[in-house]
Amino acid sequence: MEEGGVASWRNRAAKLFPGGVNSPVRAYRAVGGDAPIMVRGEGSNVWDADGNRYIDYVGAFGPLILGHADPTVTRAINAAVAAGGPFGATAPGEVRLAEMIRSRMPSIERMRFVNSGTEAAMSALRVARAATGRDLVIKFDGGYHGHADSLLVEAGSGAATLSIPGSAGVAAPVAAQTLVAEYNSVDSVSSLFSSNRSQIAAVIVEPVAANMGVVPPVRDFLSGLRGLCDQNGALLIFDEVITGFRVAPGGAQELFGVRPDMTVLGKIIGGGLPVGAYGGRADLLDLVAPAGNVYQAGTLSGHPVVMAAGEATLAQLGPELYATLEHNGEKLAEGLKSLGYNVARAGSLLTVFFRDRLPVNFREAKRCDVEEFAGFFHRLRAAGVLIPPSQFEAWFVSAAHDDAAIEATLQAAASA
Ligand SMILES: *Cc1c(COP(=O)(O)O)cnc(C)c1O
Repeated sequence: MEEGGVASWRNRAAKLFPGGVNSPVRAYRAVGGDAPIMVRGEGSNVWDADGNRYIDYVGAFGPLILGHADPTVTRAINAAVAAGGPFGATAPGEVRLAEMIRSRMPSIERMRFVNSGTEAAMSALRVARAATGRDLVIKFDGGYHGHADSLLVEAGSGAATLSIPGSAGVAAPVAAQTLVAEYNSVDSVSSLFSSNRSQIAAVIVEPVAANMGVVPPVRDFLSGLRGLCDQNGALLIFDEVITGFRVAPGGAQELFGVRPDMTVLGKIIGGGLPVGAYGGRADLLDLVAPAGNVYQAGTLSGHPVVMAAGEATLAQLGPELYATLEHNGEKLAEGLKSLGYNVARAGSLLTVFFRDRLPVNFREAKRCDVEEFAGFFHRLRAAGVLIPPSQFEAWFVSAAHDDAAIEATLQAAASA
């Protein structure tokens, strides 16, 4: 072990970072109790600074589809580090990863790499506003698209956990550019279009909501959005930061057969390193500088080490791996259901909802018994299973969660 255990690192962190963390949900405020300090991960396991092992369903909140320290990804990262850079110039890894993305998501004719999902969503909206000459954007209650000012309105994820309606520090005129609809309700979007005629630049949506817990789209929701955007001259933006390359080889857009104008990516495409990307129709992406006059830049964008990690990850995501992910997700979800839990699942994403029926929107998700969830969380943690510390965060099952790991999880859940 490194110097000091969990308590000592936690005390030092508490003096340095707001709430002791560098991202809010890590502080465990939603479930209470002490936040962990992690030192190592391998496959489906993580170890804390006291040497305790946990089966990990946090998965870094999405990126680790292959589990921790995948050997191929690790080798690719090491090789890229040794090759130097970044160069302040285009390198082959960017081209190769972009080609892999485009071949799996044909709606992405062109793209731009950035350093986070936040940046990607923010930039996609800038393009949408430039392309349409309109200012307003529709998002969904409980939808999370990172922490850009205009997207922090009725957001899910950590914001949902903390019940922050938007955020302090966001200028009212900026927040006013974002209209909020109800997830899985085409009608709620339709009425916003009616009351704001020719003013809406885009609708941005998580095609499978995963930041209010997992809430899959109801039949015809995504195609309904496509239709409304087309009728009203607005752009449809899928935020596939979580769903991209997870729910299907071509993401949710392939799974549900709906083609967005632009897509926001992150998490998995960086193989665990900081990344984001936005892409879509060539005519839209050609508005971005220096091809066009929408300014967006990044010193470290397309970093060769990140691109190598992403490439080594995507290269492994073939039919066999998706079959494994489906098997793992199904085995875990079915096992939990047979223990009496209420489980929503989309492939290897799942949520145990403490509510009698599965929610179809955030209003319903918020009616879950979060105290019951917190009890469940702590009993699992004590039994060596770490799930995300909030009712509103998805469990991320990886390809490394073999049958033994899932059976051990179910055993822990049986006594939780
Ligand atoms: C995580 C997430 C983001 C933000 O990505 P960051 O890399 O954390 O900035 C955006 N959209 C969705 C759907 C996410 O889950």
